[in-house]
Amino acid sequence: MSFTTTMYWNSIRTRKTENRNMKKTLIKNTRIVNPFSNPEFTENGWISIIGGKIEEIGSETPDENGFDEVLDMSEKTVLPGMINAHHHLYSTLALGMPPPKKTPKNFTEILQEIWWKLDLALDENSIKASFEAGLRECLRSGVTTIFDHHSSPNFTDGSLGMLVKIADKFGVNISPAFEITDRNGEEFLKSGLAENLRTFQNYENDPHISPLIGLHASFTLSDKSLEKIAEAISDFENYGIHIHVSEDKTDEENAKKHGYPSVIQRLNHFGLLNEHCLIAHGIHIQPKDVEVLKESGANLVHNPTSNANNKVGILSSEIIEKLDAGLGTDGMQTDMLSEAKEGTLIRSSHKENNVNYLKLLFSNNSKIASKLAGLKLGKIQPGYQANLVFFDYQPQTEMNEDNFSGHILFGFDKPTDVMTRGEFRIWDGRCVEIDEFEILEKAREQSKLLWKKMDR
Ligand SMILES: [Zn+2]
Repeated sequence: MSFTTTMYWNSIRTRKTENRNMKKTLIKNTRIVNPFSNPEFTENGWISIIGGKIEEIGSETPDENGFDEVLDMSEKTVLPGMINAHHHLYSTLALGMPPPKKTPKNFTEILQEIWWKLDLALDENSIKASFEAGLRECLRSGVTTIFDHHSSPNFTDGSLGMLVKIADKFGVNISPAFEITDRNGEEFLKSGLAENLRTFQNYENDPHISPLIGLHASFTLSDKSLEKIAEAISDFENYGIHIHVSEDKTDEENAKKHGYPSVIQRLNHFGLLNEHCLIAHGIHIQPKDVEVLKESGANLVHNPTSNANNKVGILSSEIIEKLDAGLGTDGMQTDMLSEAKEGTLIRSSHKENNVNYLKLLFSNNSKIASKLAGLKLGKIQPGYQANLVFFDYQPQTEMNEDNFSGHILFGFDKPTDVMTRGEFRIWDGRCVEIDEFEILEKAREQSKLLWKKMDR
């Protein structure tokens, strides 16, 4: 590695006066791994970047003329910036949290005893700490685009605006959505809806922000509330909802109690399904629901580690295949390569091996994110946003175009350098231009206060 951290910091300072938008960067001498793309594997390649977008990729020796910076990334392997298609940054401070006093016996009790207590205890300071520490960890895992599903009933107004600002500081693309629900009463329902509408209006046309209308789940929303939400968003073109569906059987039982054959058909009845919506889980959906989802163009997201942790079952490989499901972590972790590896192993333990989790991560997520964001994301290809994740990976066995999947799933560790929109945000394992020490200090302080508050 010939380019040192100090050199990078110096180049940042000089660049401040330049027109960042049209900066030309050349990355050379790097192993390019580009799953489900063409070419998928280049042993010694180069990538040219102009104005935050990938211009061209090639192999061997590039023409270095006309670039503002040329970075020699010998010894590194680069993957496309990864996408988390369903995440909860608000759960960041739950890491290491004491267990609930009453041990939850089922899915509903997990929500009641843990997550609904946590979201009610969150305030402006703990939310800020959750966003900052959570986004830092995502970026350090090579995640450059996040579809977030947020809940903080006691700090609703301005919560999504805060998320957008912090995500921008990290250079991460964000899809904000606030979980609307009936469970805290009428006033909270109204404020949750208002926060979604405001965010949608403010950021609809921002290239790095893809606001969705967040709904917690069908089983915490009455018909009256669904109608109200449907009516409020019908004025917007291109709206999409982001909702938990059929994560547990209780969601389906509740839809039947309301007189609908299923959750999906209940949402469809209110006109809430379309090509922009994001459906998390879908474990207990039926063949008719798959048809409805297919017809509407809605996007399904599979979250294997969370489903295993909550013991709610496993999404069938047939549904994943039919709907080209994406991959999310549901707040369980930030590392998408771990999610893909653990998803593979969880499915093996169910004696099912026919899901290629790298396809979900690098192909399906790329398609979903590009559709919802309206720009090309998740591949190392000309015209795609320049989101690149570099690993200091020295393979201990032969690595080539036929076997790179095994290396990605079982060999790779955390990335060393992460670029988003043509700028390095992580260099040599450290955040660039962000005080990580301060972020971690605040998060530790806020986690203690939050856990005490939940205990009360
Ligand atoms: Zn979720």
